[in-house]
Amino acid sequence: MKSSFCLILIVFAASFSFAQNQTANPPYKDSSLPVEQRVQDLLSRMTLEEKVAMLSGANWMESVPNQRLGIPSIKMADGPIGIRSWAGPSAKTGGMKASMQVTTTAFPAGVAMAATWDTELLQNEGQAIGQEVKAIGREMILGPTVNINRTPLWGRNFEGYGEDPYLTSRLGVAYIKGVQGEGIIATVKHFDANNQEFERHRINAIIGERALHEIYFPAFKAAVQEAGVWSVMSAYNKVNGVYCAENPYLLHDVLRKEWGFKGFVVSDWGSTYSTAATVNAGMDLEMPGGPPMKDWLKEPRTLEAGNGGGWLVPEKVLAGVKSGKISKATIDENVTSILRIIFVSGQFDHPYAATNEIDTPEQRAVARKAATESIVLLKNDGDLLPLDVSKIHSIAVIGPNAGTAVTGGGGSSLVVPKYSVSPLKGIQDRAGQNLQVTYSMGTLLAGEAGKDSDLQQLRSDAVAAAAKADVAIVVIGRSNKIESEDFDLKTLDLPPGQDELIEAVAKANQHTIVVINAGGPVIMTKWLAQVPALVDMWYGGQEGGNAIADVLFGQANPSGKLPVSFVKEWKDSPAYGHYPGEHLKVEYAEGIYVGYRYFDKKNVEPLFPFGYGLSYTKFDYSDIKVSADGLSSGKPVDVSLQIRNAGSRPGAEVAQLYLHYDGHSSVDRPVKELKGFQRIELAAGETKTVHFSVDPSALAYYSTAKKDWVTDPGTFDVLVGSSSHDIRAKSSFAVGTGQ
Ligand code: BGC
Repeated sequence: MKSSFCLILIVFAASFSFAQNQTANPPYKDSSLPVEQRVQDLLSRMTLEEKVAMLSGANWMESVPNQRLGIPSIKMADGPIGIRSWAGPSAKTGGMKASMQVTTTAFPAGVAMAATWDTELLQNEGQAIGQEVKAIGREMILGPTVNINRTPLWGRNFEGYGEDPYLTSRLGVAYIKGVQGEGIIATVKHFDANNQEFERHRINAIIGERALHEIYFPAFKAAVQEAGVWSVMSAYNKVNGVYCAENPYLLHDVLRKEWGFKGFVVSDWGSTYSTAATVNAGMDLEMPGGPPMKDWLKEPRTLEAGNGGGWLVPEKVLAGVKSGKISKATIDENVTSILRIIFVSGQFDHPYAATNEIDTPEQRAVARKAATESIVLLKNDGDLLPLDVSKIHSIAVIGPNAGTAVTGGGGSSLVVPKYSVSPLKGIQDRAGQNLQVTYSMGTLLAGEAGKDSDLQQLRSDAVAAAAKADVAIVVIGRSNKIESEDFDLKTLDLPPGQDELIEAVAKANQHTIVVINAGGPVIMTKWLAQVPALVDMWYGGQEGGNAIADVLFGQANPSGKLPVSFVKEWKDSPAYGHYPGEHLKVEYAEGIYVGYRYFDKKNVEPLFPFGYGLSYTKFDYSDIKVSADGLSSGKPVDVSLQIRNAGSRPGAEVAQLYLHYDGHSSVDRPVKELKGFQRIELAAGETKTVHFSVDPSALAYYSTAKKDWVTDPGTFDVLVGSSSHDIRAKSSFAVGTGQ
């Protein structure tokens, strides 16, 4: 009797819970419940097979949906400098056919965005990109790229934010906030130390712990802790002997345990090499997946490049569970990370309807503002710029990058915009009727080849045009054929024919202005002394031509500052001698001495220092005040000073705050480090007070002995300037023992 009663009870309980599971509105579908509760409820309803199915992609750019439970697929779009268009070689993106090509807003390259030092603008860019992702019916953008510019030869330097971890962190955080504010998943990439393309699928980057924490981690840490980034992409390479996608130190110890990351890790496309090690390290989602992945892995080029993939397909993961190499708890953890973001981002509750609203006036305006603010005036002898149209009657526009709008670098970040403005078009549109504008190509665009005799003809035509004009504007640089993901630059020299072209034009016309259109430094020793004016427009996106013309004609006052030091020659670079490595191993022997930290320490004079950029006006710095009173109770150091626009034009200045440690540290410290910056707009004659708040963490170095951040007692000099080499205001504060 007793046992039959029990049986009835069990049957009743089971059917009750079955009925509950079947209810139309189970808790996980209830958007008023806390996310963690919804995740756990959903997880409890999933079979092991359903969970495992979520660990690898469905396709080239989609995760696996679950129709039974209503889990949507996460549809991704490539980034970071706009949405990559899928056509031609990108046809695999989205697993779509070339006929489904989309054209989207081409923002300036990451390095150009960094040259603006404008966090608000970066946030606006992120927001615009988030809106476009939604507009094309997707939910995730594969950006921002925050890898540090370790060597100027890295083929993807144009995508990132330069050589400094603080600047990179601030900009990455702003971009992510903009994207995620739209409910779109941002993906900070590539974690970690994807600093070269050469052998990127096999290279083992040997990096000291201090350099990791001080140089190669901060932007990822800030993305996690300050922007709450929803996804992190693991890098292709190995770090200290272990592939990033199966690296427990990176993905578990640092990312999750130390920083508290709650989102999901997605592999870079074709970067996995194991099943159990990858799942156990906390690499949640392997991409790509499905049939496109299988086909792609058979291609000789993929194998030759060293890509790996297809390791997290259900049969392999289930075999790992069966053999005991992967626990069910680990599968739950990884699936939880993905589900959590599907809920947190709102995508579970409100799938986006593709509106197709792309390249709106607002998005264009962001692209235009960004292109303008990014331009760096490097030289302006005799105030040749801005051009005085009342004094000149003719301009010879010269150079392959003048006639063609080279909007960005190549690879997965290539954006095909609906329209783009070349420098020539921008100049022509502003010239008006009284100014004659001629165009000569002068030489071929980087990556194109031609007959010697034709090249000579191109050059002599350009020189003849320059000789006849009042001013010559030579726009040179690289193109996405030679500056791209997948390979590094072969040289920092300008592409063939460009040095000779500039030299010849400068000889023919003393008013020669050179405009660089590239993703980073170029070598200019052959001609720099001969040209009075030099401007860097980077890859300025679809509005680059309008922006450079505004600067040349003075409709905009240049305010960009270099986010990377420009070397005189490649051999001056910190990584010289330790790049690209030997026997598939690259030692980061320069340690924390990357960029200006190296030039300062080794007394190497860069051609143009980090943070440098001229203006058409002048700024005076005065009245610096420092208060470190709250430091002992963990409060920030307050710094304020006055900046005055002492010229006759409105302009913007980027005031940069560096700290110099003057004391007895147990470790070697950089001469100075960027710890704050403010971009301020000033009318002619206007003065503003600029405030900085320096967090106590800015004073610390990473101690490998203590495995923690340590602040030594001593004096810290506060150096505020217009570049890392042009310090205009100084003060200091003391840190006592035990602070
Ligand atoms: C790149 C990633 C990119 C991915 C998807 C990879 O080759 O390294 O940055 O997001 O492809 O296209």
